[in-house]
Amino acid sequence: MDLIYRYDPFQPIVVNRPTSAEEAVQALVDGNRRLVDLVARMQAATLGEEGANEAVIPISPITLGVPFFPGAVLDQEPFAMVLGCSDARVPLESVFDKSFNEMFVVRIAGNVLGTECLGSFTYAARNLGRNLKTMVVLGHTGCGAVTAAVNTYLEPNEYADVGFTYALRSLVDRVMIAVRGAAKAIARCCGDKIESHPNYRAALIEVAVFLNAAITAFDVRNEIGTVTTKKLPVYYGVCDLQTMRVTSSPVTATTTSGDLRPAPHDASAFQELGRELVEVLIAKGVLD
Ligand SMILES: [Zn+2]
Repeated sequence: MDLIYRYDPFQPIVVNRPTSAEEAVQALVDGNRRLVDLVARMQAATLGEEGANEAVIPISPITLGVPFFPGAVLDQEPFAMVLGCSDARVPLESVFDKSFNEMFVVRIAGNVLGTECLGSFTYAARNLGRNLKTMVVLGHTGCGAVTAAVNTYLEPNEYADVGFTYALRSLVDRVMIAVRGAAKAIARCCGDKIESHPNYRAALIEVAVFLNAAITAFDVRNEIGTVTTKKLPVYYGVCDLQTMRVTSSPVTATTTSGDLRPAPHDASAFQELGRELVEVLIAKGVLD
């Protein structure tokens, strides 16, 4: 299978920059769908299945977001701010099939919201606001920071090295509210005895990954709202490492599309989200 990037200066490519938050979110979801489709095609080729043996991707300096002429320098014009995890398997531009000058990115383990992260987004919201249409928090399945928080929650004595390392503890502490929320959501749906279930730890991690992204999105919206008058709708999602699909609910066998969801607005919305996440895991057979 050949992946071909093709540039023809005599075949200009029209670039449609998002003009609203809805268009911006759709551009990210569409970009992720292109990645998911490409991954599926390559996996099919790996398995020797029949199908197209080449994919042609038209490019130009404009679509790449690099200078069109030698010596030119572009203004910074991202249409989305994105906060994601530092995990090497989740490069944000690649996950959303975006290029130079399209996303203002901060990556930090566990996609938590520290002061410096917030400062970066505040700068962007104040100074790059003309083209910015939305803000997205992206978590991912199997997140190491969330796993560390779950391990510390379940067995604090076994993972004392995390608890007694100031820098690591500051990360884990920020994720812990999502872990506690996940534990409560699972207990509400399945009862306290579920803690002895062999999949309990895995379920706790999966639910906490989604809640953590949603909580960070909630925090970003509140904090950005106090430092700028620009109203930036804040969304969240989670990248599933098996398929690379971004969704707002765990991927199941029937999942055929991706999505991003607006940050919850209050405690009851978080409770409802926790219930929904646990019900998906029950339907998947992870919990029963
Ligand atoms: Zn991670």
